[in-house]
Amino acid sequence: MTVSANLGFPRIGVRRELKNSLEAYWKGDTSKADLLAAARQLRARHWKLQKEAGIDIIPSGDFSLYDHVLDMAFTLGAIPERFANLDKSDPLDVYFACARGTDTAPAMEMTKWFDTNYHYIVPEFTRGQSFALSSSRVIDEFREAQSIGIKTRPVLIGPVTFLSLGKAKDDFEPVELLEAILPVYAEILSTLKANGADCVQIDDPVLACDLGESQKVALKRAYDVLAPIAPKIMLTSYFGALGDNLELAANLPVEGLHVDLVRAPDQLEPVLEALVSGTKSLSLGLIDGRNIWRADLENKFAIVRRAWDLLGPDRLQIAPSCSLLHSPIDLEYEVALDPELRSWLAFAKQKLDEVQALTVAIQRGEGAAREAFSASKQALASRRSCPKTSNRAVRNRIAAVDQHALARKHPYAERAVIQQDHFGLPAFPTTTIGSYPQTKDIRQARAAFKRGDINEETYLTFLRVRTQECVAIQQQIGLDVLVHGEFERNDMVEYFGEQLEGFAFTKNGWVQSYGSRCVKPPVIYGDVSRPNPMTVEWSAYAQSLTEKPMKGMLTGPVTILQWSFARDDQPRAETCRQIALAIRDEVLDLERAGIGMIQIDEPALREGLPLRKVEWEDYLAWAVDCFRLSASGVEDRTQIHTHMCYAEFNDIMDAIAALDADVISIETSRSDMELLEAFGTFNYPNAIGPGVWDIHSPRVPSSADMVALLQKALETMPADRLWINPDCGLKTRDWPETKAALGQLISAAEKLRATR
Ligand code: GLN
Ligand code: ZN
Repeated sequence: MTVSANLGFPRIGVRRELKNSLEAYWKGDTSKADLLAAARQLRARHWKLQKEAGIDIIPSGDFSLYDHVLDMAFTLGAIPERFANLDKSDPLDVYFACARGTDTAPAMEMTKWFDTNYHYIVPEFTRGQSFALSSSRVIDEFREAQSIGIKTRPVLIGPVTFLSLGKAKDDFEPVELLEAILPVYAEILSTLKANGADCVQIDDPVLACDLGESQKVALKRAYDVLAPIAPKIMLTSYFGALGDNLELAANLPVEGLHVDLVRAPDQLEPVLEALVSGTKSLSLGLIDGRNIWRADLENKFAIVRRAWDLLGPDRLQIAPSCSLLHSPIDLEYEVALDPELRSWLAFAKQKLDEVQALTVAIQRGEGAAREAFSASKQALASRRSCPKTSNRAVRNRIAAVDQHALARKHPYAERAVIQQDHFGLPAFPTTTIGSYPQTKDIRQARAAFKRGDINEETYLTFLRVRTQECVAIQQQIGLDVLVHGEFERNDMVEYFGEQLEGFAFTKNGWVQSYGSRCVKPPVIYGDVSRPNPMTVEWSAYAQSLTEKPMKGMLTGPVTILQWSFARDDQPRAETCRQIALAIRDEVLDLERAGIGMIQIDEPALREGLPLRKVEWEDYLAWAVDCFRLSASGVEDRTQIHTHMCYAEFNDIMDAIAALDADVISIETSRSDMELLEAFGTFNYPNAIGPGVWDIHSPRVPSSADMVALLQKALETMPADRLWINPDCGLKTRDWPETKAALGQLISAAEKLRATR
């Protein structure tokens, strides 16, 4: 019989209970026992919830106190040397030390989980490293579920994915460690089997990526070794098509294969064809685990039918496309949302109902799930016909955009002369990236305003005073290009989304970003437009306080798109273009209001890159065009800045240069200017401000440190195109260190100028 399955449930808790428990524990307010009890409660609640939804195959081991990749590293005993020396008596504290660092040992690195906004902890590997089963977590949680009467399918990250996600400290490929980790995997799997697990879920999302020969060989080897001793293996791929890895995946000695049919619906036929003559079961990833839209059940059911026709009822499972980790938990809490919009959405809990509806329909006929199907149909019809989602004026404007709108009037070399003439900046101009410390009083004032405890005028006056102080401090410090400080902004995407048409906000739509950190992405449900200027008043006010150039501060279209739940009824590129037009209007309004420099932040440009290299060109083409559309309306005299962080640039230098920003600031101090090398090698033609202060650390660098970094930068970049700035915005820092570090930054600039 066809069954329903889930691949993973969000662990943070609908009230962000895990966040609260973790933070209380870290602060020392609660005991370890409290934390573990809270975690156990959440697991039990989530298992029961899935059971009540009717899900046949419920995962265990998908829970994590911080991160599932770090959990796997701990299970395998892959703890970096610098933490292994910590007090061994307390594995949980070693675990948190790895994730968060200690005074003596810096935290393990963090990076994005494939192309999602979830960050995992990057495993560290050394040549010849040995592994040993070091945690019984997976087995314990399987038994924990069993003890409350729920038989689960334990989840593990596959050995090849695990190794591929890590970073080799010496010069070798992590997959070379395969033989060393396989015995530990074997031990886990056979213990699970001995404890009564019938099947396991092994996640190998690398199967949706371009694989090297060594990874392919390793995948084959891994399953050849593990399959004979393991419970039945459901091998999952997600976030994209198996593509050229299909044959490899289809021939691995596993019991079943899970494929993502949301991201890659076109792979249905090739996958069916690859499986039809064998005995493998197929898990159909039909419900979008990464977005919040309700599914078109009719359409999904047609896919189930097709698979059923070819494979028969007994080889099918129906599931979300990937783990629900990337979805908010429960729509029921969104009581303030427009009811019509709300009817179009499904969060994790509702997604399980969708999975179940499809399963019931194939088991017992569509009639058995009539209610769910008709609700889906209705929602879809309402969404399609709702006038709020489409805006003819926007569509007409987009259709009329031509190549001229995407280019500045003259090339950078000519603009640079005009701009230098206009602004008369000194060599090595100094600036910051935008935000200044968001101190507690600012967050409190915003909360009070939102609650209605203070009125708008009081709030705005408060913000004006803060802005005024911030401008005065920057003048005093002696920066050349000032910013207003962004005190009015809660978040760099939310602030814009709240003022744009086509966006909606949830009250409780939290999604884990990393550890205890959650984000609440806006929902883009309709055509985007900008009814009113969004930042002009603040920038103009700040400019009125100083003779120095005041940089306007905007978030770029790609970043707004990337950090939102985007609509799925049109291509992302189309949505991005609409946002770009809105930003373009804002840029022009800023220019009209006398703002001569405008920064358009695009920190998420790189993370939008598709998993497969063949798709990069297409993505980069529209992403770059969108940035250019937003930036290019201005006169030559107006200086466009952009900012990027957490990114490598080597392989996308063409695109970065094609943005044609007059000045780009990048985060590079932590990499000791290594990231800048790409710009030098490429002969990057425009101006650049490599960060000289790692703002993620409370440490205040000396001007000598900064000069040393800048000297290094000067090896690759010409002096007349070099700016001096911190790595990133300063909103998480405090004022004393900010003032001290910026003072050092100014003296670094002076020292450098003196040598010229
Ligand atoms: N202008 C933003 C700020 O300063 C940029 C944030 C970022 O770098 N991601 O906060
Ligand atoms: Zn940044």
